[in-house]
Amino acid sequence: MPKAPEDIIRDEIRAMSGYRVPDATGMVKLDAMENPYHLPPELQAEIARIVETTALNRYPDSGAARLKVRLREVMEIPAGADVLVGNGSDEFIQTLMLSVARPGACVLVLEPSFIMFRLIATFCGVRFIGVPLKPDFTVDIEGVLAAVAEHQPPLIFIVFPNNPTGNLFDVETIARIIEAAPGIVVLDEAYHAFAGQSFMPRLQDFPNLLVMRTLSKLGLAGLRLGVLAGARAWLQHVDKVRLPYNVNVLTQLIAEKVLQHQDVLARQAAAIKAERARLFDELEHIPGVRPFPSDANFILFRIVGASEVFAGLKRRGVLIKNLHETHPALAHCLRVTVGTPDENSRFLGALKETVNAG
Ligand SMILES: *Cc1c(COP(=O)(O)O)cnc(C)c1O
Repeated sequence: MPKAPEDIIRDEIRAMSGYRVPDATGMVKLDAMENPYHLPPELQAEIARIVETTALNRYPDSGAARLKVRLREVMEIPAGADVLVGNGSDEFIQTLMLSVARPGACVLVLEPSFIMFRLIATFCGVRFIGVPLKPDFTVDIEGVLAAVAEHQPPLIFIVFPNNPTGNLFDVETIARIIEAAPGIVVLDEAYHAFAGQSFMPRLQDFPNLLVMRTLSKLGLAGLRLGVLAGARAWLQHVDKVRLPYNVNVLTQLIAEKVLQHQDVLARQAAAIKAERARLFDELEHIPGVRPFPSDANFILFRIVGASEVFAGLKRRGVLIKNLHETHPALAHCLRVTVGTPDENSRFLGALKETVNAG
């Protein structure tokens, strides 16, 4: 008789509830920060040709050399920096944590933040240190510096602009954290396309800085491609933890192709930013709703009876994200992804109906 799962699977894994993806069939899907726009038909046709002619019997290029050349150009990765590609940027969160996971190691994150940091820390057996942001979601620099001094974290993640709050942090404050850190500081720039600022040009200034990007929020969430840039001194080791063929051949070729048409993605990002401004303005005018300014492709807002409102929206066919009770700072908060003008109008209509019905 084999032992029971309780005797075999680690306690902390059995205690987890895992990352749940709700079913959005038939709904206006504004819960996952996806780009709502399709690629133009000409580009879709070019992708179809790639799929037709690719040798799927062969392993992909493990180093993704051609794709990296394109990424360097498009993302303006400094010449002195190395670059790695991942199966989404989530994969780098894992490879980075595995790389530093000595017994007793910890990872420091400014909270509230992206939920995967905490989950992956548990997978990797790394202690998770969450340092709270101030109530206005700016960085409590004294609190962060004290936590850095106390815990000496080998790894720090800073999301810029932050998810789920949507704001950029003050650049000089982040620089102070990077300078005080004993190890690696990763700037997670998943929402870079919707923000005006980046730490990419500052890789030269800080030997312990890594910059992480993804194509997911830019319009290619289904492809799964993450990018990590920084000093070779670090990345050569992270690269060993990466599985050899982590980025499949179709992802490599299609990403390379789409990035040749960067203007398409840039126009879509501009449309999303314009809609973000309208959505914010309309939310501000609904009584009882307080939206927080956003530099990303989503808006966090506080609303009386958030969980009831979330359920009311769902009944009306609109799926957003309920963050109430996920973190004390997010009490009564919901997060909506910026969709197409039509989707946003449907969301606003459903929200007004729900508020009036309440
Ligand atoms: C969405 C998101 C990611 C994950 O992106 P993938 O590349 O799709 O794995 C990483 N970090 C943050 C902060 C995100 O919001």
